[in-house]
Amino acid sequence: MVNPMKCFLHTSADAVGSCKFCHKGLCAACVGDSGYGLACSESCKAELLSIKDMMTKSKMLYGQTKGRFPILAIMLVSMGGLFSVIGLASIKTGRGIFPLGIGLLFLMLGVLALINQRRSGIRS
Ligand SMILES: [Zn+2]
Ligand SMILES: [Zn+2]
Repeated sequence: MVNPMKCFLHTSADAVGSCKFCHKGLCAACVGDSGYGLACSESCKAELLSIKDMMTKSKMLYGQTKGRFPILAIMLVSMGGLFSVIGLASIKTGRGIFPLGIGLLFLMLGVLALINQRRSGIRS
């Protein structure tokens, strides 16, 4: 590096990292990583903590509602089932192809939604 970043407090010391919140340079003496990223001051630390807290909470909420009740997938599958039944019932009349096609499409989308939900459940 031609012009390495300096610590914002110790202008003669090279920065080894930067504050995760305000991106000021931090030297080895100033770096205090306690698990939530580097922070230059108590106020930045507090900001980072509150952001992390918010993200964990929203992730938990999202995961719970998603995991407990796959409304979209259930709706799609039941719609698909309904259309498929209508289609099968009238297939002999020759007019069942259209609702059957829609039914299968809905079933497919429902299964895809279920698979997506499982994948994201594992990730979180
Ligand atoms: Zn900062
Ligand atoms: Zn420093």
